[in-house]
Amino acid sequence: MSNDAPLLQVTGLRKHFIMRQGFPTSRTTIIRAVEDVSLTIRPGEAVGLVGESGCGKSTAARAMLRLIEPTAGRVRFKGQDVLTARGDALKTIRRKMQMVFQDPYSSLNPRQTIGSALMEPMRVHHIATGAQARARAAAQLDEVGLPANALDRYPHEFSGGQRQRIGIARALTVEPELIVADEPVSALDVSVQAQVLLLLRELRTRRGLAFLFVSHDLSVVRWFCDRVAVMYLGRIVEEGPVAEVLRAPLHPYANMLREASPEPDPARRGKLPRIIGEIPSAAAPPTGCAFHPRCMGAMQACARVVPPLRPLGGGRAVACHLYDPAVAAAN
Ligand code: SF4
Repeated sequence: MSNDAPLLQVTGLRKHFIMRQGFPTSRTTIIRAVEDVSLTIRPGEAVGLVGESGCGKSTAARAMLRLIEPTAGRVRFKGQDVLTARGDALKTIRRKMQMVFQDPYSSLNPRQTIGSALMEPMRVHHIATGAQARARAAAQLDEVGLPANALDRYPHEFSGGQRQRIGIARALTVEPELIVADEPVSALDVSVQAQVLLLLRELRTRRGLAFLFVSHDLSVVRWFCDRVAVMYLGRIVEEGPVAEVLRAPLHPYANMLREASPEPDPARRGKLPRIIGEIPSAAAPPTGCAFHPRCMGAMQACARVVPPLRPLGGGRAVACHLYDPAVAAAN
């Protein structure tokens, strides 16, 4: 596969949840958590998926891995269809796409030793068993900065940062090519966050790993990622090289997020965070552009027509009528 060929290609991904409430007459509500998401990740590339909580970014990431079944769309990993794969083909794809979770404690079995947690995936994927698997698990712990004697201990004996290192080690035991990291440091103390991020970046360089990095923290994404996709109420509203999107966002929502993101230099900090309003419910999304009730630049068309994600050149794309000359001229 050439380095330009996509590792992961997601097209038109949707995830709707159907809720039935009420008795004796039940009412059906459709939660449109993910709507028409398309995304490409190349080998070794780190792509950030950002947005406020509730925007659908974690659901989209899980649907890409088929940890939850998507409602519609297509997901290809190295050209193979992830959503129709079965049996050994699906097992191989799953091995190559691993997830690192936000809460490392809940992703580890409290009654299973660390050694057992690390050796199990190797056994399932026929990589190694017995003494060989144990030696590989010890080497894996060493790579994430933990001693080999951790193998015989239990998750509760470790700090949050150490547990996240164990979660990363477990993901690496099966030699993945893509790591989906879902808010991997947001549950950790600030001092520990930096250490875990440095570890992830070292691993990325050493192993040539690609990342889908799900986060609400723009400064972390700016530091870690090559490209970023900004999500709002289930849709990608802006995408592009991370430095350019965060320096000069085009979409009014991406701009609002950037303005509200903590500025490390106190001299450049604004007086107030400029997040206006709250993200609406995915059960009753606004018509047209879902951001229109919060948008200072909304035009007539915004409440009626969903703006498509429009490529603008230079790898950037934006879903906003302000960048559609025909719509902007008619208003
Ligand atoms: Fe604002 Fe309209 Fe652009 Fe939506 S499409 S972000 S409402 S200007």
